[in-house]
Amino acid sequence: MTDNFKHKGLRKQLVEEIKSKGISDEAVLKAIEKVPRHLFIDDVFLDFAYKDTAFQIGAGQTISQPFTVAYQSTLLEIKKGDKVLEIGTGSGYQTAVLMELGAKVFSIERQKSLFEKTKALLPQLGYTPKLYYGDGYKGLPNYAPFDKILVTAGAPFIPEDLKEQLKVGGKLVIPVGKGSIQIMTVLTKIDKETFETRKLQEFSFVPLLVDKAW
Ligand code: SAH
Repeated sequence: MTDNFKHKGLRKQLVEEIKSKGISDEAVLKAIEKVPRHLFIDDVFLDFAYKDTAFQIGAGQTISQPFTVAYQSTLLEIKKGDKVLEIGTGSGYQTAVLMELGAKVFSIERQKSLFEKTKALLPQLGYTPKLYYGDGYKGLPNYAPFDKILVTAGAPFIPEDLKEQLKVGGKLVIPVGKGSIQIMTVLTKIDKETFETRKLQEFSFVPLLVDKAW
């Protein structure tokens, strides 16, 4: 679990790379510079940890590309103390970035093995989010409402439960699309029934799965 000068140097380069790709939010860049991404992936990928690419992390799932993590984090406009619901904990990398931004994070993962692995890892790195094993489509009604909700898997549609669990004035960031390509979408809750929708650029996420009988 070491984070040495070499790793820190590589992170600085990564920050320069995502800056050149259009990320300009200072707080987000700082968070990316801080989180030791190499500790979230298997040792065999060590040399690639600070390349701007996604990786397999087991159970057929991926750790998101740093650019994508930075992009989604920017869209959320996190303020210190924001209560954030993340769907798709995965490696926990995005969770850590949100926490560096000052969010209180609740995160749901549907793969038991990933859930267990990340639940053990994050506290070792000093991050203590609330992690849940369950179905992201349903959100966490008992802990709602949330200031922000982030979906880190490709959703075929926008789940009503998540819209409901958002505070008025809050934002839901979700990649929406039925195939392998999704459109990054930002919903802002204007009042109980009204949402403003912004559609941004295309991404390719692993799917938000529905096939389990919860
Ligand atoms: N935020 C993660 C990205 C992981 S990829 C990271 O930074 O590493 C997306 C994750 O969503 C996968 O771990 C996948 O298992 C999970 N997922 C897919 N469908 C889900 C669902 N219905 N509910 C909760 N998690 C889901």
